[in-house]
Amino acid sequence: MHELSVVLSLLDEVGEAAEREGATRVAAVRLRLGAMSGIVRDALLFSWDLARAGTIASEADLVIDDVPVAVWCPRCDGERGVPPGEGLICSTCGAVAPQIVRGRELELVAMEVV
Ligand SMILES: [Zn+2]
Repeated sequence: MHELSVVLSLLDEVGEAAEREGATRVAAVRLRLGAMSGIVRDALLFSWDLARAGTIASEADLVIDDVPVAVWCPRCDGERGVPPGEGLICSTCGAVAPQIVRGRELELVAMEVV
């Protein structure tokens, strides 16, 4: 499962950051997850529950902020959303807009340590 390897590297990152802070426990971890990141949210949460055991984040909640996809529309000359399930099309004017500006991210944004 792809999500498990993502969680394992996330836990490494969290563990290193916690160590730098001199923390003894991580209470919560907050992620930004793009709609086109290729990561399945439920699988990520499931993997988190499995993998966090025995780490400094063993009791940490994983909080996920969903990031919707946004594209740059050449016709509107601006950042626009995409209609659900229709690919990379401007939701305002319908033009094809292949340039993704947001929605691919998977990033650690914050963690709460004790
Ligand atoms: Zn447009």
